[in-house]
Amino acid sequence: MPSQENIKGIVLRVVPTGDGNNLLTVLTGSRGKITLSAPGSRSVSSQRHAMCQPFAYGELFISQRKGDRWYLKEGVPEEIFYPLREDLSRFALAGYIADVTLQVATEEEEQEDLLRLVLNTLYVLCYRDKPIWFVKAVFEWRLAAILGFEPDLFACMECGKTEPPFAFVLSEGQLICAECMMKEGAPPAHPLDVTLPLLRSLLRVPLQKLYSFEADEGMQGELSSLCEKHLLTHLEYTPSTLRFYKSVVE
Ligand SMILES: [Zn+2]
Repeated sequence: MPSQENIKGIVLRVVPTGDGNNLLTVLTGSRGKITLSAPGSRSVSSQRHAMCQPFAYGELFISQRKGDRWYLKEGVPEEIFYPLREDLSRFALAGYIADVTLQVATEEEEQEDLLRLVLNTLYVLCYRDKPIWFVKAVFEWRLAAILGFEPDLFACMECGKTEPPFAFVLSEGQLICAECMMKEGAPPAHPLDVTLPLLRSLLRVPLQKLYSFEADEGMQGELSSLCEKHLLTHLEYTPSTLRFYKSVVE
């Protein structure tokens, strides 16, 4: 008997293969990243067809014969995030989100927080009136924390002082105060003038409230630069989808 399972997940990559099939990479909460073969799914009459598009989220009925790969038997999308297809900058950001998520997601282990972050972010991108730079920065900052790179934003890493002003040392994920920054041999640090309270809140707030903060235009430069650099420091590469996003919005 093949093992069978009902599982919820979002399709992040669709690769057409021979014979009208698709190979899907899906992020699920319970099993992390999973690759599914979807036979015959390029036919519009297939019970699998509707699920075989990027950003389709829903219930997947999957099966596996011993030692073989997982197959998608049926899929019912609950949300396809259609507005992503109507706006190039949103689409480009969603492509970056999918790309990075595929890079960091692990297989065969629970990834509930990562799935919730991706779903909330795409939802806000499609249906809430938040600036796109803000959605990108918030996603990057919280993603790094989920991956285990949660910065320490309490006190200066050198002297322990807890009163601002501070700068942010990207390589350490810690604060440094203005005095320590002037000392010889101090590490390079990113300016941190207006975003510290928000950055602290974004680490603590439950994921469902992550996008409840106001996007203040005065924070744009600092927040965008710091959140992106912080994530890239830990990814250790620059995704081509990020370059594409920038070519679209800048
Ligand atoms: Zn200090």
